[in-house]
Amino acid sequence: MRLTLVLPLLLTLGLGCGFLRGEGDELPLDEGCQPILGLQSRSVRTTLGTATVQADVPPFARSLMLSARSEPGTYLFVERVLAPDGSVVASSSDWQSQTEFLSSALLVLGEEANLNWPVRDIDPALTGGEWTFELTVLSSSGQYLDDEPIRTTLFINRDVDEGEGCLSAQVLMSPATAADPALDEAVRQAVARWQEVYAQAGVQVSARFGTAEALPETLDHPYLGSDLYETIKSEAQDEELVMVIGESVAGASTGILGEAGGIPGSLAPARRAVVGVGWLLHAGADGSFDDTDIDGLGETMAHEIGHYVGLFHPIELDSSGRPSGYTDALTDTPDCDSSTDCLNALGTNLMYPYRTCYDANCTRQDLLTAQQEAVIRGYTGSR
Ligand SMILES: [Zn+2]
Repeated sequence: MRLTLVLPLLLTLGLGCGFLRGEGDELPLDEGCQPILGLQSRSVRTTLGTATVQADVPPFARSLMLSARSEPGTYLFVERVLAPDGSVVASSSDWQSQTEFLSSALLVLGEEANLNWPVRDIDPALTGGEWTFELTVLSSSGQYLDDEPIRTTLFINRDVDEGEGCLSAQVLMSPATAADPALDEAVRQAVARWQEVYAQAGVQVSARFGTAEALPETLDHPYLGSDLYETIKSEAQDEELVMVIGESVAGASTGILGEAGGIPGSLAPARRAVVGVGWLLHAGADGSFDDTDIDGLGETMAHEIGHYVGLFHPIELDSSGRPSGYTDALTDTPDCDSSTDCLNALGTNLMYPYRTCYDANCTRQDLLTAQQEAVIRGYTGSR
């Protein structure tokens, strides 16, 4: 979430819905922007709160995403991830007690979990063989739920070219936004700014534009999700991220510039499988877009998609703007101890929690560290 004001962190998950795909071939893909594989959609049930999903990972796979979803009102998370040799490469008990965030899938947040593995370039790599995912479902009072259904879908990425990547996006405007030529043009120019920011990370963003007739001007919170968002994502390609643009996210008074449906977000159709961006708070006091406003809108797009592909804020700030003690799990985003320190150390980072550049004279907020770039390229939808 990127804010005009400092608000508490809201963590959310994308929601995976099962849909069946055939097995793909298992050849490596190393040139151009290749499709990912949606595989092995299945339903499992918990025994004493936990269910195990096993996945045959092809030898040339670079990354995978397991999208899982339990019943509304329950809490689903990934308890452990085991590599084919039986080693535990990620455990929720390690990360739930940490002040660093690795993946929302390991936290107890809601009925959706999207685990991208590996997350960082320093995590154990994906190897061919049978991977095991232990999923846990809790009730709202924290009880382990027995015989609880979980639907899962696995996505595999075979792009072995790690130095660069491709992201595809569908940019869908609300009808009134699309009908205003100046707004439509501002959105297109802002997407160009987003493409410029990601090009620095070696990621080529392709976007196709459209109008979502049912999209309201005041967008629903992506992190709360909606049936409309699930429908919209189901009409996109597997690897296509969906960005919806309206006047605001949940009303301009919230101060929210944009919001992502998950960290990371789902590749499968899901109630939270979108990023939402509101144009009004970017348009300045005069309500129209100049070049600086367009840069800001494009940087918000880049920030929110950054969340969707797995980036947390390098530092979380409390309601007074002071460091809250929570950070990302990357080692090359500097630590900081006070509001001023944090602004100095990280204020030009794309993933700083709020917008820091509002006019033509400030330094643009578009920097990414090497590890942040690796997270973007490591998302299973980055091909
Ligand atoms: Zn944010």
